[in-house]
Amino acid sequence: MSKGKFILEFSPNLVNEPIICVLVRDIGVELNILRADITEKGGHMLLEISGKNKEKGLERLRSSGVKVRELTSYLSRDEKRCSNCGMCVSICPFHSYELDPKDYLVTFNSESCVGCGICIDACPTVALSLIDGK
Ligand code: SF4
Ligand code: SF4
Repeated sequence: MSKGKFILEFSPNLVNEPIICVLVRDIGVELNILRADITEKGGHMLLEISGKNKEKGLERLRSSGVKVRELTSYLSRDEKRCSNCGMCVSICPFHSYELDPKDYLVTFNSESCVGCGICIDACPTVALSLIDGK
């Protein structure tokens, strides 16, 4: 049975729709919500999806307007390029960056990073990139 991890992006107009409920109830998708960070302004959800209805479920998500991307990569930070500006800290929905108030250095926790790539565009020094092969 194929299984995959997917990052879902919800725009503000979708946050009150019963999209995940429909996937389970009407389509019979087997899923596991690993993380979610959604407010009335939109947000992200990390889903593990499996079962024979996986493709049907993904199709339904996309046709509902949810942006879906399969996670097959991991994030790499080039320490030489990083200026510790802190722009990535508040962007990461999974709290993988931390700004140390004592020395103002930004640490990156690869254990909590899911490789969604959301932080990449926020980095002014182009220190972040996704590498294939998680
Ligand atoms: S890729 Fe960036 S935004 Fe996504 S979880 Fe990892 S550190 Fe956070
Ligand atoms: S946004 Fe880029 S330069 Fe700034 S702290 Fe994060 S990785 Fe470093």
